[in-house]
Order: sequence, then C-alpha cells, then structure tokens
Amino acid sequence: MIKDSFDRVHDYLRISLTDNCNLRCFYCMPEDDYDFAPAARLMQTAEIEKISRLFVEEGVKKIRLTGGEPLVRRDAARILELLGSLPVELVMTTNGTRLHEFLSVFKSANIRTINISLDTLQPDKFMLVTRRNLFHQVRSNIELLLQHDFLVKINMVVMKGFNDEEINDFISWTTHIPVQIRFIEFMPFSGNHWRNDKVFSMDEILEKIGKQYEFLPVKGGANDTAKHFMIPGHAGSFAVISTMSAPFCSSCNRMRLTADGKLKNCLFSAAETDLLSALRKGEDILPLIHQTMREKAKQLGGQFSGTFEMLDAAKIQNRSMITIGG
Ligand code: SAM
Ligand code: SF4
Repeated sequence: MIKDSFDRVHDYLRISLTDNCNLRCFYCMPEDDYDFAPAARLMQTAEIEKISRLFVEEGVKKIRLTGGEPLVRRDAARILELLGSLPVELVMTTNGTRLHEFLSVFKSANIRTINISLDTLQPDKFMLVTRRNLFHQVRSNIELLLQHDFLVKINMVVMKGFNDEEINDFISWTTHIPVQIRFIEFMPFSGNHWRNDKVFSMDEILEKIGKQYEFLPVKGGANDTAKHFMIPGHAGSFAVISTMSAPFCSSCNRMRLTADGKLKNCLFSAAETDLLSALRKGEDILPLIHQTMREKAKQLGGQFSGTFEMLDAAKIQNRSMITIGG
C-alpha cells in the first residue's frame, strides 16, 4: 500500500503517454514553437507496463491514461491492450479527435469510461482555443461513443469572459443526452498566462446554472475531485472541479507519472522523482516511489493555499500542463 505522511492511501495512478498533441489549447501548451520530447526520452511500451505492474502490486486500483494527447502515440493501442490486462479500472482523458480509430481497442482493453475535453460548443471558438479545425470530428466521436454505450464525461475548463456564457448551453445538452459535464476551474501552469481574474469559480458556476435550472447535490465517491449535481428529469448530469476555490487535497489518492518517467506526488509539486532513469540503470524503483509519496505536501504541492484571489502564479514552480499530464 502506498501512503503519505498524512495517512492518505494512494491507489490511483495517472500516466501521461506523451507530451505530444494534435491540438494547441492555449491554456495547456505554452507556446507555438513548443518542442515535444524525443521518443527515446519517453517511457517505452515495456517500461510503462513494468512500472504500472509495480504500482498495481502496491495497491493501485485505477489507472488513467492522459498526455499530451494519449491517442497520438503510435503504440497507443498496444499500451491499452497491455494495461487492459491488469486488474485495474483503466480510463482515459483525451481530446476526442482520434476516438473513432480506437473503438475496438477500448472494448478489448475494458475501457468503459472516457473523459473528453471540449471547452466550447461553438466551432469558431473551438478554433480559437485549440488552433485546429477539428470541432466536428470531436462532436461526432462523442456521438459514436454514446452509441456504443461508453460512459462519456466532458471536461470543460471555464475561463471568465471567454466561455462562461456557455455554461448553460452545456447543461442544456444534458437534457436528453446522458453525458456528465465536468466544469473545471482554470488552473495556473508554467507558460499558460493564468490570471486570478480569469478564474470562474465554483460559486459563480453554480449561481449561473441556478438562474436557469433547479439542481440537487449528489453524493460522490470518497476520493472524488468533483462535486456532483443532478437536474431532475435530465438524462445527463454535471460536476464541478473546484481546485482553485475549494481544493480537495484532504482526500487525495492521486499520483502522476509524466511521459518521461518522472513521478509527481501532486499536480502542483515542484519536485519530481526520475523513476525511468533508475529503472534503466536496473535499480529497484519501489523505495523511490514510497519515498516520493511520503514527501507529499498536505495541500496543492505546498505552493499555495487555495485563496486564488491573492495568488501570484509567477511564484509557482511547475511544468506546463501538457508536460505533466492532466
Ligand atoms: N489531451 C487530452 C485532453 O485534452 O483531454 C489529455 C491531456 S489534457 C492536459 C487533460 C485535461 O487537463 C483536459 O481536460 C484539459 O482541459 C485540462 N487542462 C489543461 N490545462 C488546464 C488548466 N490550465 N486548467 C484546468 N484544466 C486544464
Ligand atoms: Fe492537447 Fe489536451 Fe493540452 Fe489541448 S488540453 S493542448 S488537447 S493536451
């Protein structure tokens, strides 16, 4: 079992398969000429399998594959198949552009739940966020997954003055369609020009929805980052991920492995442990894993307190989101 010094059990591993992506979301990727890591520096398929097995033997029950965009990796299907044979719940976060190429792989790897990022329902605005013309591909892939009975969660990063006016359009989508919309507060990462006045907080999100809909809270799981809600009569539901205004660190069970094999004990940790180099030298990486997790700070990587109104993002030491794996 992997525990930190606050007695939090860590049984959920998020693995980034690549820092590469076919979209260019401005809040995630630092700049246009961002250099992707060369393939040799990334964990290779067999290394991902070996490290994942080790974590599973230590009690990990859920693995999320993310990135960058996990499905642009050339050997993504093989990785899904290998990890799908482990005794864990395997899930994925993806931008949705390549889902149609992987339907049968998802089924054979027992992936039933997929989080798809979509920050706007407007094609023009999608182009502004992602700098790529793939809105209709993503929308049709969402339909495809629903037709094949996958559980579809939509991640929408809410940014004040940019897409907060669309919150109730997303809610309206849940009237007849069984998607779960996850409204995510905008978070600061290296190079993403975060400002506290661009955060649209959970209170503001709920206030906006409350003007048009009556909603009820729903009890979530013990380690949920999301606060869940339902609207009577709607086929879908919604949730809010309030990292900035109401962090949920006290029940955190997450560990993150970057595509270049570094273990981060928190999304906001400045420190990271190079598991991949140790593995390649033939060292036992288990003591490194336990040590890294014992060093986990109580809250937000020890870098800020959760009062985002006063936060100076320039003081936070971290990678860009695309190199961490969201
Ligand atoms: N490419 C995949 C995708 O877009 O879903 C997986 C990687 S992406 C980094 C994972 C999630 O992080 C996405 O839902 C994305 O919207 C979210 N994300 C990225 N930057 C963020 C930020 N600054 N604040 C909040 N969420 C962010
Ligand atoms: Fe790519 Fe996802 Fe980041 Fe957008 S949020 S740039 S799709 S990794």
